[in-house]
Amino acid sequence: MPTSIAFLGLGAIGTPMARHLAIPGISLAVWNRTAAKSVAFAAAHAAHAVRAAATPADAARGAEFVLTCLPTSREVEALLDGPDGLLAGMARGTLLVDCTSGDPATSQRIAAKLAERGIGFIDAPVSGGVVGAENGRLTIMVGGDAALLERALPVLKAMGEKIVHCGAVGAGDALKAVNNALLAVHIWSAGEGLLALARAGVKPSVALDVINASSGRSNSSMNLFPERVLTRAFPRTFRLALLDKDVGIAAQVARDQKVTSPLMQLTAELFRAAHAALGEEADHVEAVKYLEQMTGGEIR
Ligand code: NDP
Repeated sequence: MPTSIAFLGLGAIGTPMARHLAIPGISLAVWNRTAAKSVAFAAAHAAHAVRAAATPADAARGAEFVLTCLPTSREVEALLDGPDGLLAGMARGTLLVDCTSGDPATSQRIAAKLAERGIGFIDAPVSGGVVGAENGRLTIMVGGDAALLERALPVLKAMGEKIVHCGAVGAGDALKAVNNALLAVHIWSAGEGLLALARAGVKPSVALDVINASSGRSNSSMNLFPERVLTRAFPRTFRLALLDKDVGIAAQVARDQKVTSPLMQLTAELFRAAHAALGEEADHVEAVKYLEQMTGGEIR
């Protein structure tokens, strides 16, 4: 295991990921835009001498690996420059592991900029949600040089269970975006189907019971709808704003690759509208509420 790691971005998923690196043998520095979170994290892990860094540069200084987990690639790119930026602290030979669900084009631009300075880059977005992060059982999809992934493997293994090399820089981002576009399709289509069935006189719980024993089932029908929609709990674990961003990336990847993709483009439009209607803090499953509002009715 490497000795020195910087982790930037203590959000909903970044925090439980970083916890797996607050262990003996690792010198961990954390940075977060809202400093109170990094200070609290360091205090909670004082036994392992976790350091709350004042700036990205300060976090990166002396680190062998720098991990970022921010909303989009734009925020990662914005963290690079300036006297307090990551580049001011990262030495040649450092490896930036970006766990953001980013976009391929920006990741490629970041990788090229870092390469000029002898710094490596891999995109390493994750799936498995907050629970997967807490359990250290994330799936991590990596884009970039295989030798760099090999170097980062001990770090990634501390947070994830299934670590897959997907291709060149940006491949992890592209795969993550398409996965989440499928999630969005499943949430939306299950919502439409259950609302239609409810009006036709079939209770959503009965419908889900049958669908989950049949070929229409998905993670949405098996887990999200029973646990979050039928109960009306809608816990906030993964923001709708972030899913909107992911579907937008997937739709862009499809357009860039000249793939006929009416379903992906429409899903991007629907989630953009749901995000605009429900705001920045809504959870992704709350897209169902937007559909309910448009239709009139509730799935319960
Ligand atoms: P959150 O919105 O919970 O946290 C975002 C983090 O980014 C916070 O630490 C926030 O700091 C920081 N941040 C926001 N804007 C800036 C900025 N301009 N400059 C610097 N830091 C900034 O997001 P998540 O943790 O949920 O998601 C992070 C990434 O992981 C996203 O790409 C998301 O798509 C992906 N992801 C999330 C999953 C989940 O279940 N939540 C699952 C899989 C992937 P501050 O505390 O100051 O707001």
